[in-house]
Parts: sequence; C-alpha cells; structure tokens
Amino acid sequence: MEEIKNFIKPDSLKDAYSLLQKPDAKIIAGNHWLKMSDITIDPAIDLSDLNLNQIKETSDCFSIGASVTLRTLETNSKLNNFFNGIFKDALSHIVGVQFRNTATAGANIFLKHGFSDLITVLLSLDTELIFYNHGKIKLSDYLKENISKDILTEIIIPKKTLKAKFLSQKNSTTDFSVLNVAASKCKDECIVSVGARPLVAKEIRIKITDKKSLSKDDLSVSNNPDTEELTSLSEKISNQFSFDSDIRASKEYRKKICSVLTRRALKDIFTGEDA
Ligand SMILES: Cc1cc2nc3c(=O)[nH]c(=O)nc-3n(C[C@H](O)[C@H](O)[C@H](O)COP(=O)(O)OP(=O)(O)OC[C@H]3O[C@@H](n4cnc5c(N)ncnc54)[C@H](O)[C@@H]3O)c2cc1C
Repeated sequence: MEEIKNFIKPDSLKDAYSLLQKPDAKIIAGNHWLKMSDITIDPAIDLSDLNLNQIKETSDCFSIGASVTLRTLETNSKLNNFFNGIFKDALSHIVGVQFRNTATAGANIFLKHGFSDLITVLLSLDTELIFYNHGKIKLSDYLKENISKDILTEIIIPKKTLKAKFLSQKNSTTDFSVLNVAASKCKDECIVSVGARPLVAKEIRIKITDKKSLSKDDLSVSNNPDTEELTSLSEKISNQFSFDSDIRASKEYRKKICSVLTRRALKDIFTGEDA
C-alpha cells in the first residue's frame, strides 16, 4: 500500500506543477489505482481546488476537466445526448457507482491502461488533451509518447460526430473487457477504435465514399453499406489490429470478436439497427 508523507491542495496549476517536479511527488485523484502500489508519495497533490471538475460545451466542442469523475461522464445528459449515450454504455459497468463517483477521467487517460473503456471511446471521437506544460496533443499521439511529471488539465472532444456506438465483450459484467470497440461516423469518415486487445486502444480511419467497397485492400465504406459490405469491412478492420492472449482470452478469440463487434457497431452507426 502507498505511504503518503505530505498532502497538499495547491490553489494554482502553476504551484501544482512546480510541486510535481519533486522526485516522489504524485497527483492524487480518486486514489483507487495509486493505493494499490507500494510507493512513498511526497507530496500527494490534490487538484480539487482548481476547478477541473466541469464539463463545458461550446458551439464546436465539449471540454471536460481532468477531475471530472467517470460517474459524471456516464450521467451527463448533454454529452450523452450528443454522442448517442456512448459514455453511459461504456462506463456504467466499471466496478460500481461509489467507485465511479470518485475515479476521474484524467487519471484513467493518464494511466494508458489497455483495459480502459474510456480511452477506447475517446479515440473514436477524435479527442485532444491539454497538459499544463506540454500543451495540446491528440489522444492518439499521447498514447505513443512518454509524457510524465505533467498535469492533464482538459479533454477536448470536437462536436463533429454524427453517430457513435460502443460495444464490449466481458466474461462477467464488472470485469475488465475481453475486447472493446467504439465507432463514430462523421461527415466523410468513420473512426473505429479497438481496446482491451489487451494492449491499449488504437484507432483506424475509414473514408466514406460514394461507391460500395468490397476489394481486399480498400479500407473505405459507402454512404449506404449493406450487410455484405459491412461484413467484409469489419474483417478488413480486424486484420489491421494486433491482439495478444492473457488470462481472459486468447488472441485468436479477440480477433474473431473484433470483427463481430465492429460489424455490429458499424451497422448501428450507418443504419441505426442492431446487427
Ligand atoms: C479494481 C479496479 C477495476 C477497474 N476496472 C476498470 C474498467 O473495467 N475499465 C476502465 O476503464 N477502468 C477501470 N479501472 C481504472 C479506473 O477507471 C481509473 O482509471 C483508475 O482507478 C484511476 O483513477 P483514480 O481517479 O483512482 O486515479 P489515482 O489512483 O488517484 O491516480 C492514478 C494515476 O493517475 C495520475 N493522475 C491523476 N490525475 C492526473 C492528472 N490530472 N494529470 C496527470 N496525472 C494524473 C496519478 O498521479 C496516478 O499516477 C479500474 C480500477 C480499479 C482499481
């Protein structure tokens, strides 16, 4: 279990960032993950006086403070109405309500866990992050880079998505997912993101064109795809991702599930029907 030597609630991001540069300093959010590690923290930096627990909507984006809890994302009606309930669908199975009332969005993203349902959703919505020192970075780039000793302040989701869907396969309701798929449709592309492979989620972009696409190498989709096109595309998408085995499932199983969940998610975003 962690040992906290000092606990500080700074009243500015500048002070929080400067404290974080101490070798044993850590930001403390819901403390669900930190408390499981055997480390000494000095000081633990609590961001709760910094107004990072707001969801703001403008004409072109939603801006989510890093301290917003998973439960707030799950229950926020503006966000869920705009994105077809994708946050509710993805987050409502994580552990329990009390847990989600304190676990934060910022910590979930910062940890880059392969099982993160939230990262799978946010990748499909073309999300950008704002760090205090590093500034703005695409979520997909953050997952590849090594940003440490910095403070995630905001999560920016553009309002360009027309339809979005999250699906997951779990061995039991509140367990980590065996596989997560999120798909979104914008004006001229759709984004499919696959997480819990069990590697961290990755996304792929599919162009929306005028003609039906059935050729082996063509990763595009027509405006009005039928079942044959969606089945073929889902298999091509599944082939673009790598999978591994762990105690929950084999890589072969994950690959099969990936094409099934992808076909269902695409069918939903293109036709509004369950596959
Ligand atoms: C038992 C269990 C089951 C879980 N199941 C799932 C699941 O099924 N799906 C899923 O998606 N997630 C799951 N999670 C992860 C969970 O959703 C949270 O991501 C996790 O608990 C971290 O959130 P926290 O607020 O508790 O962070 P903390 O434990 O307080 O912090 C975690 C890390 O994030 C850093 N941090 C926090 N905020 C910031 C910030 N603003 N900027 C920079 N760094 C920051 C901290 O310094 C620390 O290193 C699970 C966690 C647990 C413990």
